[in-house]
Amino acid sequence: MSRPVEEALRAALWPGDPGYDEARRVWNGMIDRRPAVIARCSDAADVAAAVRYATAAGLAVTVRGGGHNVAGLALADDALLIDLSPMRSVEVDPVRRLAVAGGGALLADLDGATTPHGLACPVGVVSETGLGGLALGGGYGWLARKWGLTCDHLTAAEVVLADGSTVRVSEDDRPELLWGLRGGGGNFGVVTEFTLRLRPVDEVWVRSAVYPVEQAGDALRAYRDAMPSQPDDLQLVGAFKRAPAADWIPARLHGQPVLAFTTVWLGAEGGPQAAAELFADCPPAGSFERVMPFAELQAMGDGSEPAGRRYYTTSGYLADLPADAVDVLVRYAVDGLTRYSTIDLGYFRGAVARVDDDATAFPSRDASFICSASAAWDDPAGDEHGRGWAGGLLRDLGPWRSEGSYVNYTQRSGRSAAEVYGAHRYARLAALKAEVDPANMFRGNHNIAPRPLASEGRLR
Ligand SMILES: Cc1cc2nc3c(=O)[nH]c(=O)nc-3n(C[C@H](O)[C@H](O)[C@H](O)COP(=O)(O)OP(=O)(O)OC[C@H]3O[C@@H](n4cnc5c(N)ncnc54)[C@H](O)[C@@H]3O)c2cc1C
Repeated sequence: MSRPVEEALRAALWPGDPGYDEARRVWNGMIDRRPAVIARCSDAADVAAAVRYATAAGLAVTVRGGGHNVAGLALADDALLIDLSPMRSVEVDPVRRLAVAGGGALLADLDGATTPHGLACPVGVVSETGLGGLALGGGYGWLARKWGLTCDHLTAAEVVLADGSTVRVSEDDRPELLWGLRGGGGNFGVVTEFTLRLRPVDEVWVRSAVYPVEQAGDALRAYRDAMPSQPDDLQLVGAFKRAPAADWIPARLHGQPVLAFTTVWLGAEGGPQAAAELFADCPPAGSFERVMPFAELQAMGDGSEPAGRRYYTTSGYLADLPADAVDVLVRYAVDGLTRYSTIDLGYFRGAVARVDDDATAFPSRDASFICSASAAWDDPAGDEHGRGWAGGLLRDLGPWRSEGSYVNYTQRSGRSAAEVYGAHRYARLAALKAEVDPANMFRGNHNIAPRPLASEGRLR
């Protein structure tokens, strides 16, 4: 179906139009960019017409899914913004355990449609995040150890390519493009529909626990030693942050830097024992346990990082957590952790590591820990401190970092895609890019430059 360009831009917003400034706002308040035009797209035909318009007008293109990218990649000055936010519908086939979600759906839209059936796709932990950017970059959350990444659950997609054509992609149809969509970070076209495999979910057992920073070293060492032998039903993440004034946290810790652990147990029973054994030698200063529906767990992180604040997030993988690395983490928590900032530490392995390294574009599946520093503040005067603190932590963790980084928690630089994917994977991605987007229309991302693989000819 081809739609005239003028019709696709019928709902476009131009600078000065009412609604233009609202539509160019994204999650990160640091990002203040002015697109030439914002094409609000309702279906693939709108997207295709917007792509053709951009080509004719010589405009660069960016794509907005949920607008939650930490580096604000959805927006560029003077580009045409393809805004997918009208495309948030989700349809669920509970028998085949599949969901079909629009390219602009948020995690809340997906969870809202699937969880009433006792099903879910593994996604992230904040339901306001966009499915588009999250799935195309990887996507990990509470179900990752048990079931894997969001991109591992992408079975098919509808994609508008740079030449304005609309294609269906699956394991049988253009499998190399499906490979690239599974972690390649939005480089290959506009995904207007995601078909996702669903998993059964039930109530979950959740425990929050806090340690004062003086005990954080012991707690992190216990975490490091215990995780490799834990079952996939157990997901446990740590975060340095300033303690909220919750009644289960001792008052002396309120407002102080603490190490908070969240344990999620997905099995039918056994969570309390598993969590108790893990920290038997290192009891927390306060803890709180409850059983909740999976849908509630998915919304637990909402509001923790509200849209509009100024953010600088960066991250890296750690092969291990030796004592010196723990010391670096604690030092940054004591020194420079502002009111809203966090240092997050997660442990992967499990189902993430069981997927073949070549099966998807997502790199670094053998990584153990992921550490993210997320600086957050309100006053522009804090920009330098925020960037310096988050960037400094990852720099000082350098000796223990393993190769690559998570594309969805990476700041953009000229080399960011090469660093994320490593030389071998980057070459395969570049060959795919040369096939489907030779003029690099889709470059509002961690950009893979189109460059064919000399020896391997055309890709499927
Ligand atoms: C508060 C918060 C919590 C987060 N939690 C998690 C988490 O638990 N797990 C995790 O893995 N990540 C998490 N992230 C990171 C998140 O995955 C990335 O920020 C992701 O880029 C957000 O996707 P989006 O669609 O909202 O972003 P956008 O800013 O809209 O887009 C990001 C990139 O993806 C491209 N893109 C988006 N949709 C499409 C599409 N349909 N077709 C083609 N390209 C598209 C854009 O062009 C851009 O390059 C979190 C981020 C935030 C801000």
